[in-house]
Amino acid sequence: SEARISRITKAETTCNYCAVGCNFDLYGKDGKVLGVRPSEPDEAPANDFSTCVKGKFGYDFVNSPNRLETPLIKEDGEFREASWDEALDVVYDRISEIQEEHGERSVAVTSSSKATNEENYLNQKFARQVLQTPHVDNCARLCHSSTVAGLQQTVGYGAMTNRINEDIGETDCYLITGSNTTSSHPVLATRIKQNAADGADLIVFDPRKIGVGEHASQYVQTKPGTDIAWLNGMVRHIIDQDLHDEEFIEQRTKNFEELKEKVDSFTPERVEELTGVPPEELKTAAETIATADTCIFGWAMGMTQHAHGTRNVLAITNLALVTGNLGKPRAGLSPFRGQNNVQGGGGDMGPAPHTLPGYQDLSNEDVREKFADEWDGVKPPKDFGLFLPQQYEAILDGDLHGMYIMGENPVLSEPDINEAEKALRELDFLVVQDLFLTETAEYADVVLPAASAAEKSGTFTNTERRIQRVRPAIEPRGDAKSDLDILCALAERFGYDWGYDSASDVMDEISRLVPIYGGVSYDRLEEKPTGLQWPCRDEDDPGTPYLYEEEFNHDDGLARFVPADYAGPVEMPDEEYPLTLSTGRVLYHWHTGTMTRRVEALMHHVPESYVTIHPEMAEKLGVEDDEYVRVESRRGSIVVRAHVEEQSDPGVVFIPMHFAQGAVNELTAHELDPTSHIPEYKVSSVKITPLGPD
Ligand code: SF4
Repeated sequence: SEARISRITKAETTCNYCAVGCNFDLYGKDGKVLGVRPSEPDEAPANDFSTCVKGKFGYDFVNSPNRLETPLIKEDGEFREASWDEALDVVYDRISEIQEEHGERSVAVTSSSKATNEENYLNQKFARQVLQTPHVDNCARLCHSSTVAGLQQTVGYGAMTNRINEDIGETDCYLITGSNTTSSHPVLATRIKQNAADGADLIVFDPRKIGVGEHASQYVQTKPGTDIAWLNGMVRHIIDQDLHDEEFIEQRTKNFEELKEKVDSFTPERVEELTGVPPEELKTAAETIATADTCIFGWAMGMTQHAHGTRNVLAITNLALVTGNLGKPRAGLSPFRGQNNVQGGGGDMGPAPHTLPGYQDLSNEDVREKFADEWDGVKPPKDFGLFLPQQYEAILDGDLHGMYIMGENPVLSEPDINEAEKALRELDFLVVQDLFLTETAEYADVVLPAASAAEKSGTFTNTERRIQRVRPAIEPRGDAKSDLDILCALAERFGYDWGYDSASDVMDEISRLVPIYGGVSYDRLEEKPTGLQWPCRDEDDPGTPYLYEEEFNHDDGLARFVPADYAGPVEMPDEEYPLTLSTGRVLYHWHTGTMTRRVEALMHHVPESYVTIHPEMAEKLGVEDDEYVRVESRRGSIVVRAHVEEQSDPGVVFIPMHFAQGAVNELTAHELDPTSHIPEYKVSSVKITPLGPD
């Protein structure tokens, strides 16, 4: 009937799962999300008509009966419902007391790559202006911080250089490594598979023969954590065969001689010894890449989550530069960013302890003045704060006493989570803001109920630097509020009236302060539903589809070769822990599973955690397919089901990261990359014991 139809609402919006940034119409009715339909293809630049199973069926978490609807305050170890006024008063009183007793820097703030750009900008503003603490960070620290650090040193911007459709979808050649693209970035993987089926070379180097490997023209199995060696070996072979792009190197780069010298020891034989890659495979791949007209270098956390993650990124960047695959269409460096808004919210908006929004220098007085002019005269703290994993150490050392966590779940996502849990228990005061009473929220003193992406306005920036609108299909559940509204209310409690009327006002402030977003406004995003790709410096700037056409983002316009010295995994298998554990994602789940574990359609496919074991190893250990096994490392022990399958070398096992039961980060280690502080999630040593049938 007409009355029924009139209550159905439609929002043209951007997916809240991965950073491909698919656009679609989200329908809602009576406070519930009904479903998703494709947008007009010319309004969905990353996906046309496609969505993956998470985009299409994954929004049910919004309707979950377990959503938080009111603030909660913990009293005598139990949560009780509270009004917003009461909850905000407690937050203000306790944080003020802690800061008075231990100083401003005794409090840390965590932001969220799931939240909008505007919310992430306000999160770091709350930390830096209101609380005057430098300790603000977010989960990008745990996924691609090494990408950002590596790319900033070499080419300048910590971001994908190219477009999804026009470049990744149309290139002549791919080198994909450390990315389970079909599971983690499904719609982007479809582009790659289609283009490979049409004749593009698809080279995949990975310890596991993951989905994209099945479609490869050349799949090569590598030993986990040894990537610098085969990348340096490829560069050496290309130079040795005179296949490098001399003109590009001469005109657009510096330090080539230094690189040449550093890679010289990576002979095919040495590479084989370190990585397991046969010399012929290495040479074939290197020659295919060097002779292709254009090549895309795609990677994700298999490259980044290592104690030498930044060096991995330097090594792959050197390969792209040596072959002249930057600054032109259909070529480029393509870090596949993970969460919906990790590029924008986790990176560009600067909720990070070492950089201001737009990657601006914390120690630059002019920049700090510029922020103070917008921030009621308050300058952001000048020195670096603590990086996320360091914050948990600081709690245990008695240096941090209070924490405000917006939309993150460190009890599952931090490495060696027994340590993280111990730290959270030690805190004098913890506020958690989320959609659900997550594993982390259980430790909180105050829980603030947040609105989902289906219930709020803002922007997300996808992995190709495209800033796109997020629009509400329904009202927030119960008394839940958007992170933006909560942050404004919190700031007000602390005496700062920010005075924004809408998310659009926040974007206006961002565009005044962040040069790469200088030309972004909601008016322009209405006119151009396909979004704007940064750098977009002023209102006449159409944005930048691919980077570095004229110059690299350094003062002299030149890219730098930064040679990567070899480093392997920190923990190697031994007699006691003879297997190498790798962690990662599956198609049907997302990160710590706070959303996807609440969607029946997704849980139906993968209801619980598991460990993949090679059939030969399973036989040796006496493990049957589908039985429960104990997996132990030096840090902890979990029980999960065994999936016996031939996916990797017999010495390598894999466990997904999405589950609270059998949480894989009980096993991982706290080894950090010295440059980016990313933990080494991808390699730990474990042993497996069968537990017999259920
Ligand atoms: Fe959402 Fe990513 Fe799937 Fe697209 S590919 S629908 S952005 S999860």
